[in-house]
Amino acid sequence: MEKRAKLYEGKAKILYATDNPDCVIQYFKDDATAFNAKKKGTVDEKGIMNNAISTKVFEYLGQNGIPTHFVRQLSDREMLVKKVEIVKVEVIIRNRAAGSLCRNYGVTEGRTLSAPVLEFCYKEDAFNDPLMNETHILALDIATASEIATIRELTFKINELMKKFFLALNIELIDFKVEFGRHKGEVILADEISPDTCRFWEVGTGVRLDKDRFRHDLGNIKEGYQEVLKRVTGKAA
Ligand code: UDP
Repeated sequence: MEKRAKLYEGKAKILYATDNPDCVIQYFKDDATAFNAKKKGTVDEKGIMNNAISTKVFEYLGQNGIPTHFVRQLSDREMLVKKVEIVKVEVIIRNRAAGSLCRNYGVTEGRTLSAPVLEFCYKEDAFNDPLMNETHILALDIATASEIATIRELTFKINELMKKFFLALNIELIDFKVEFGRHKGEVILADEISPDTCRFWEVGTGVRLDKDRFRHDLGNIKEGYQEVLKRVTGKAA
Protein backbone atom coordinates (compact mmCIF):
# COMPACT_ATOMS: atom_id res chain seq x y z
CA MET A 1 0.00 0.00 0.00
CA GLU A 2 1.63 3.21 -1.17
CA LYS A 3 0.77 6.47 0.60
CA ARG A 4 0.33 9.34 -1.86
CA ALA A 5 -0.79 12.98 -1.75
CA LYS A 6 -2.60 14.58 1.15
CA LEU A 7 -6.25 14.95 0.10
CA TYR A 8 -7.77 16.74 3.06
CA GLU A 9 -6.89 17.84 6.56
CA GLY A 10 -9.66 18.00 9.13
CA LYS A 11 -9.67 18.85 12.83
CA ALA A 12 -8.63 15.42 14.07
CA LYS A 13 -7.58 13.49 10.97
CA ILE A 14 -5.74 13.79 7.67
CA LEU A 15 -6.72 11.83 4.55
CA TYR A 16 -4.12 10.61 2.07
CA ALA A 17 -4.60 9.05 -1.34
CA THR A 18 -3.12 5.60 -2.00
CA ASP A 19 -2.15 3.67 -5.11
CA ASN A 20 -5.62 2.10 -4.94
CA PRO A 21 -8.22 4.61 -6.21
CA ASP A 22 -10.90 2.94 -4.03
CA CYS A 23 -8.99 3.38 -0.76
CA VAL A 24 -7.61 6.25 1.32
CA ILE A 25 -5.55 6.43 4.50
CA GLN A 26 -7.01 8.11 7.60
CA TYR A 27 -4.21 9.51 9.78
CA PHE A 28 -5.29 10.25 13.36
CA LYS A 29 -3.86 13.43 14.92
CA ASP A 30 -3.55 14.44 18.57
CA ASP A 31 -5.37 17.74 17.95
CA ALA A 32 -8.55 18.23 19.90
CA THR A 33 -11.25 20.82 19.31
CA ALA A 34 -14.56 21.52 21.01
CA PHE A 35 -17.46 23.95 20.71
CA ASN A 36 -17.05 24.21 16.95
CA ALA A 37 -13.26 24.70 17.25
CA LYS A 38 -13.56 27.69 19.61
CA LYS A 39 -11.57 25.58 22.09
CA LYS A 40 -8.38 24.01 20.75
CA GLY A 41 -5.67 21.82 22.25
CA THR A 42 -3.83 18.55 21.91
CA VAL A 43 -4.07 15.34 23.86
CA ASP A 44 -0.84 13.37 23.86
CA GLU A 45 -1.24 10.12 21.86
CA LYS A 46 -4.97 10.69 21.29
CA GLY A 47 -4.50 9.80 17.61
CA ILE A 48 -2.93 6.46 18.48
CA MET A 49 -5.66 5.65 20.98
CA ASN A 50 -8.53 6.71 18.71
CA ASN A 51 -7.13 4.71 15.79
CA ALA A 52 -6.94 1.59 17.95
CA ILE A 53 -10.39 2.10 19.52
CA SER A 54 -12.02 2.89 16.15
CA THR A 55 -10.41 -0.19 14.63
CA LYS A 56 -11.93 -2.44 17.31
CA VAL A 57 -15.37 -0.85 17.03
CA PHE A 58 -15.43 -0.98 13.21
CA GLU A 59 -14.31 -4.63 13.29
CA TYR A 60 -17.08 -5.47 15.74
CA LEU A 61 -19.76 -3.58 13.79
CA GLY A 62 -18.58 -5.15 10.51
CA GLN A 63 -18.79 -8.63 12.04
CA ASN A 64 -22.36 -7.79 13.07
CA GLY A 65 -23.66 -6.80 9.66
CA ILE A 66 -22.94 -3.06 9.53
CA PRO A 67 -21.27 -2.01 6.26
CA THR A 68 -18.29 0.21 7.14
CA HIS A 69 -15.43 1.93 5.33
CA PHE A 70 -12.86 0.12 7.51
CA VAL A 71 -10.36 -2.03 5.61
CA ARG A 72 -7.48 -2.51 8.08
CA GLN A 73 -5.23 -0.76 10.56
CA LEU A 74 -1.94 0.11 8.87
CA SER A 75 0.10 1.58 11.73
CA ASP A 76 -0.38 3.19 15.12
CA ARG A 77 -1.92 6.33 13.59
CA GLU A 78 -3.07 5.09 10.17
CA MET A 79 -6.17 3.22 9.06
CA LEU A 80 -6.88 2.08 5.51
CA VAL A 81 -10.49 2.84 4.59
CA LYS A 82 -12.69 2.70 1.52
CA LYS A 83 -12.87 6.04 -0.23
CA VAL A 84 -16.31 7.58 0.23
CA GLU A 85 -18.16 10.75 -0.58
CA ILE A 86 -19.26 11.91 2.85
CA VAL A 87 -22.98 12.58 3.31
CA LYS A 88 -23.03 16.06 4.84
CA VAL A 89 -25.01 15.17 7.94
CA GLU A 90 -23.77 14.30 11.38
CA VAL A 91 -26.05 11.62 12.79
CA ILE A 92 -26.43 11.60 16.55
CA ILE A 93 -28.10 9.08 18.84
CA ARG A 94 -28.77 9.85 22.48
CA ASN A 95 -29.58 7.28 25.12
CA ARG A 96 -29.23 9.66 28.09
CA ALA A 97 -29.33 13.45 28.21
CA ALA A 98 -26.01 15.28 27.89
CA GLY A 99 -24.38 18.17 26.03
CA SER A 100 -26.51 20.11 23.58
CA LEU A 101 -29.70 18.19 24.45
CA CYS A 102 -29.47 19.64 27.96
CA ARG A 103 -28.59 23.12 26.67
CA ASN A 104 -31.32 23.19 24.00
CA TYR A 105 -34.18 21.67 25.95
CA GLY A 106 -33.38 22.49 29.58
CA VAL A 107 -33.00 18.83 30.49
CA THR A 108 -30.91 17.70 33.49
CA GLU A 109 -27.67 15.96 32.51
CA GLY A 110 -27.94 12.21 32.87
CA ARG A 111 -31.73 12.03 32.59
CA THR A 112 -32.74 8.67 31.17
CA LEU A 113 -34.57 9.09 27.87
CA SER A 114 -37.72 7.03 27.35
CA ALA A 115 -36.57 6.19 23.83
CA PRO A 116 -33.34 6.90 21.94
CA VAL A 117 -33.24 10.31 20.24
CA LEU A 118 -32.02 10.47 16.64
CA GLU A 119 -30.73 13.85 15.48
CA PHE A 120 -29.36 15.07 12.18
CA CYS A 121 -27.04 18.08 12.01
CA TYR A 122 -25.85 19.79 8.86
CA LYS A 123 -22.11 19.08 8.64
CA GLU A 124 -20.98 22.63 8.01
CA ASP A 125 -18.75 24.34 10.58
CA ALA A 126 -19.40 27.77 9.02
CA PHE A 127 -23.01 27.48 10.19
CA ASN A 128 -22.25 25.76 13.51
CA ASP A 129 -23.57 22.33 12.46
CA PRO A 130 -27.26 23.27 12.86
CA LEU A 131 -29.90 20.67 13.68
CA MET A 132 -31.96 19.63 10.69
CA ASN A 133 -34.76 17.17 10.00
CA GLU A 134 -35.34 14.74 7.16
CA THR A 135 -37.30 17.25 5.11
CA HIS A 136 -34.31 19.63 5.16
CA ILE A 137 -32.05 16.80 4.02
CA LEU A 138 -34.36 16.00 1.10
CA ALA A 139 -35.14 19.60 0.21
CA LEU A 140 -31.48 20.59 0.13
CA ASP A 141 -30.46 17.46 -1.84
CA ILE A 142 -28.11 16.33 0.91
CA ALA A 143 -29.30 12.73 0.62
CA THR A 144 -32.12 10.81 -1.09
CA ALA A 145 -35.12 9.35 0.74
CA SER A 146 -33.70 5.87 0.34
CA GLU A 147 -30.29 6.97 1.68
CA ILE A 148 -31.98 8.60 4.69
CA ALA A 149 -33.92 5.39 5.36
CA THR A 150 -30.68 3.38 5.24
CA ILE A 151 -28.91 5.84 7.53
CA ARG A 152 -31.76 5.71 10.10
CA GLU A 153 -31.88 1.95 10.09
CA LEU A 154 -28.11 1.51 10.31
CA THR A 155 -27.75 4.13 13.06
CA PHE A 156 -30.35 2.50 15.33
CA LYS A 157 -28.66 -0.88 14.76
CA ILE A 158 -25.25 0.63 15.51
CA ASN A 159 -26.68 2.02 18.75
CA GLU A 160 -27.96 -1.36 19.90
CA LEU A 161 -24.68 -3.07 18.99
CA MET A 162 -22.48 -0.41 20.58
CA LYS A 163 -24.56 -0.22 23.79
CA LYS A 164 -24.05 -3.98 24.20
CA PHE A 165 -20.35 -3.86 23.27
CA PHE A 166 -19.52 -1.09 25.76
CA LEU A 167 -21.78 -2.35 28.55
CA ALA A 168 -19.77 -5.58 28.53
CA LEU A 169 -16.75 -3.33 29.32
CA ASN A 170 -18.67 -1.60 32.12
CA ILE A 171 -19.11 1.53 30.02
CA GLU A 172 -22.47 3.16 29.33
CA LEU A 173 -22.94 4.65 25.87
CA ILE A 174 -24.63 7.99 26.60
CA ASP A 175 -24.65 9.36 23.05
CA PHE A 176 -22.58 9.32 19.87
CA LYS A 177 -22.15 10.87 16.45
CA VAL A 178 -21.60 8.93 13.26
CA GLU A 179 -21.06 9.87 9.63
CA PHE A 180 -21.87 7.96 6.49
CA GLY A 181 -20.40 7.99 3.01
CA ARG A 182 -21.25 6.74 -0.46
CA HIS A 183 -19.00 4.06 -1.88
CA LYS A 184 -19.85 2.42 -5.21
CA GLY A 185 -23.52 3.35 -4.83
CA GLU A 186 -23.82 2.06 -1.27
CA VAL A 187 -24.18 4.07 1.95
CA ILE A 188 -21.66 2.83 4.52
CA LEU A 189 -20.48 3.91 7.97
CA ALA A 190 -17.40 6.17 7.73
CA ASP A 191 -15.24 8.55 9.80
CA GLU A 192 -14.31 7.25 13.29
CA ILE A 193 -15.92 5.98 16.48
CA SER A 194 -13.90 6.98 19.53
CA PRO A 195 -14.05 8.98 22.77
CA ASP A 196 -13.94 12.05 20.49
CA THR A 197 -17.31 11.11 18.99
CA CYS A 198 -19.09 9.30 21.83
CA ARG A 199 -19.94 10.01 25.44
CA PHE A 200 -18.82 7.14 27.63
CA TRP A 201 -19.64 7.01 31.34
CA GLU A 202 -18.24 4.33 33.58
CA VAL A 203 -21.08 2.21 34.95
CA GLY A 204 -21.61 2.75 38.66
CA THR A 205 -19.26 5.72 39.11
CA GLY A 206 -20.42 7.90 36.19
CA VAL A 207 -16.76 8.81 35.54
CA ARG A 208 -16.46 10.49 32.13
CA LEU A 209 -14.21 8.54 29.76
CA ASP A 210 -14.48 10.77 26.69
CA LYS A 211 -13.88 14.20 25.17
CA ASP A 212 -16.01 15.88 27.85
CA ARG A 213 -12.82 15.70 29.98
CA PHE A 214 -11.25 18.08 27.42
CA ARG A 215 -14.40 20.13 26.75
CA HIS A 216 -14.95 20.89 30.42
CA ASP A 217 -11.36 20.79 31.73
CA LEU A 218 -12.03 17.80 33.97
CA GLY A 219 -8.34 16.81 34.02
CA ASN A 220 -6.82 13.36 33.29
CA ILE A 221 -7.91 13.65 29.68
CA LYS A 222 -5.39 11.18 28.31
CA GLU A 223 -6.19 8.75 31.13
CA GLY A 224 -9.87 8.74 30.10
CA TYR A 225 -9.00 7.70 26.53
CA GLN A 226 -6.43 5.20 27.85
CA GLU A 227 -9.07 3.58 30.03
CA VAL A 228 -11.39 3.09 27.06
CA LEU A 229 -8.49 1.74 25.00
CA LYS A 230 -7.52 -0.67 27.75
CA ARG A 231 -11.04 -2.02 28.05
CA VAL A 232 -11.65 -2.24 24.29
CA THR A 233 -8.37 -3.93 23.42
CA GLY A 234 -7.63 -5.66 26.70
CA LYS A 235 -4.21 -3.93 26.61
CA ALA A 236 -2.67 -0.90 28.32
CA ALA A 237 -1.78 2.09 26.09
N1 UDP B 1 -20.34 15.02 18.48
C1 UDP B 1 -19.26 14.87 17.63
N2 UDP B 1 -18.95 15.90 16.77
C2 UDP B 1 -19.66 17.03 16.69
C3 UDP B 1 -20.76 17.18 17.57
C4 UDP B 1 -21.08 16.17 18.43
O1 UDP B 1 -18.59 13.84 17.64
O2 UDP B 1 -19.34 17.91 15.88
C5 UDP B 1 -20.68 13.93 19.42
C6 UDP B 1 -20.37 14.30 20.87
O3 UDP B 1 -19.07 13.84 21.22
C7 UDP B 1 -21.44 13.55 21.63
C8 UDP B 1 -22.63 13.52 20.66
O4 UDP B 1 -22.08 13.73 19.36
O5 UDP B 1 -21.02 12.22 21.89
C9 UDP B 1 -23.69 14.56 20.98
O6 UDP B 1 -23.05 15.80 21.00
P1 UDP B 1 -23.71 17.16 21.52
O7 UDP B 1 -24.59 17.69 20.46
O8 UDP B 1 -24.30 16.97 22.87
O9 UDP B 1 -22.35 17.97 21.58
P2 UDP B 1 -21.81 19.25 22.35
O10 UDP B 1 -22.55 20.37 21.72
O11 UDP B 1 -22.09 19.03 23.80
O12 UDP B 1 -20.34 19.19 22.01
